[in-house]
Amino acid sequence: MERFSIQTDQRETVVDITGKVRDAVKSSGIREGICIVYIPHTTAGVTINENADPSVKADIRSVLMKLVPEGRQYRHLEGNADSHVKATMTGSSVSVIVESGVLQLGTWQGIQFCEFDGPRTRQVWVKILGAV
Ligand code: ZN
Repeated sequence: MERFSIQTDQRETVVDITGKVRDAVKSSGIREGICIVYIPHTTAGVTINENADPSVKADIRSVLMKLVPEGRQYRHLEGNADSHVKATMTGSSVSVIVESGVLQLGTWQGIQFCEFDGPRTRQVWVKILGAV
């Protein structure tokens, strides 16, 4: 398994990690298979969406903030109940096909780490299953 860490700089932010995942695929040496990107945190997630226009990331962030506001009354008393809910909404893993050693993403797609309780140092785990 490959691992890398990222440092987020805001409570809620969306960070493009496509390049780091591509590096992990390269260093694995696997040419044909499946790449699983897994986030081992309860207040962060990962998604695949448009990378070309940064306003898409901003829209995803602002809609999630409106749907699940920080200050509402929740049972979880750590002050980050909204972060847990948003992490469940985005999910903790994505899978991407690897062919000829290349991640098979659509033209406009990127892999995006979603921070909901930063700023923090976060881990991203990448497992590539397949053949060399
Ligand atoms: Zn909590």
